[in-house]
Amino acid sequence: MCSDIVTRFAPSPTGFLHIGGARTALFNWLYARGRGGKFLLRIEDTDRVRYTPEATEAILQGLDWLGLDHDGDVVSQHDQAPRHVEVAHQLLEKGAAFKCFATQEEIESFREEARAAGRSTLYRSPWRDADPSTHPDAPYVIRIKAPDGGETVIRDAVQGDVTIDNAQLDDMILLRSDGSPVYMLAVVVDDHDMGVTHVIRGDDHLNNAARQMMIYHGMGWDVPVWSHIPLIHGPDGKKLSKRHGALGAEEYQKMGYPAAGMRNYLARLGWSHGDDEFFTDAQAREWFDIDGIRRSPAQFDLKKLENICGQHIAIADDAALRQETEDYLAAAGLPPLSAEQSSGLERAMYCLKERAKTLPELLEKGHFVLTSRPIEPDEKSAKHLDPVSRGMLGELTPQLQGVSWERETLEGVLNAFAEARDVKFGKLAGPLRAALAGRAVTPSVFDMMLVLGQDETLARLQDAASG
Ligand code: GLU
Repeated sequence: MCSDIVTRFAPSPTGFLHIGGARTALFNWLYARGRGGKFLLRIEDTDRVRYTPEATEAILQGLDWLGLDHDGDVVSQHDQAPRHVEVAHQLLEKGAAFKCFATQEEIESFREEARAAGRSTLYRSPWRDADPSTHPDAPYVIRIKAPDGGETVIRDAVQGDVTIDNAQLDDMILLRSDGSPVYMLAVVVDDHDMGVTHVIRGDDHLNNAARQMMIYHGMGWDVPVWSHIPLIHGPDGKKLSKRHGALGAEEYQKMGYPAAGMRNYLARLGWSHGDDEFFTDAQAREWFDIDGIRRSPAQFDLKKLENICGQHIAIADDAALRQETEDYLAAAGLPPLSAEQSSGLERAMYCLKERAKTLPELLEKGHFVLTSRPIEPDEKSAKHLDPVSRGMLGELTPQLQGVSWERETLEGVLNAFAEARDVKFGKLAGPLRAALAGRAVTPSVFDMMLVLGQDETLARLQDAASG
């Protein structure tokens, strides 16, 4: 499937990929990918004072972690500045923009007078219709001519028609007196030049849309289909901020949330497909549509994120999950796995991924295969290794020698042993977990025995029995 749909993500490089930005990127990515369109990436790096290459790198890394691949090269907005200047001059030639020679003092006194008279202080320049022959040889800015009277209607695919009284629009500056283009112009020119057909972005840009429309109209360009989506709120209903917890996508990576779960959860933040909470990437691509975006703000809920992540871990491919776990360790600055630990983890994966909500939880469950003899029991599991339990393990060990190392056999041996001693299997499980893993929470003892193999299992039991 191939279509003419082009979406984009246009972050300002703030130093990290904001979780709201990640969702915006995801929505644009899903919309394009589900329709055989293109998803482009533009870094809005016009603010050179705040800009650093590391800030861009952080965004690229965040997108990479989330698997939101873009088409073509990353566009630097700053690099397009000459083209923004060119368009400002074209608007001038078309009469949609004008040179304004007003000084700062003049603009200030315009505002003061307007305030005193109770009029709008939005600047309308006396140079709007000045004859160029009257232009002084003095510094000027280029401004757009805001429409006289009437209304601007933004046809928003999420918000519906949003009507703005044109009296709320000023003769916005396009080029500053030093010849540099303003951000608002850059966005419009870049979206046009990149062939963007659909823009999904936060509704904090809705006001900008009316101003940007002046430029589209001035150039006679088609306005893309805009969808302004409600921002994400915290559980208290207030706009998501630092006090609600982690704000950067990379922080969630460092906490060990799997990318597939994060994608699923972010897609559900403000968009829905019936009652479906859990879905695969393929389903999200197939289902995602602007119609499903809600108009009310979504609330970030860590419990839901964990729940969804757990479900994604449970269905993940073993090798891919092992790789993601190793990537998590690197991202979190934790020691890497040895080759032996890595292959052990993958062998054990089938019994770890049920009921693990995060990758650290998965590693904790997999401790038995990552650790080596002598097993150091933690405080909780050490309680299961009292002299009686040790004695029991000592009796059990010879019975496991020479048996075929299969689940059924092991179950048979252990159940018969428990029965003969007239203890519940649970009484046996605690010491076995302590001996094999040194932990109280582990996969089933049979799974651990099968993953570890006969020799290693017997050696660990022997160690514990004689400990
Ligand atoms: N650079 C803007 C931001 O990071 C987005 C601009 C847009 O999407 O039009 O909020």
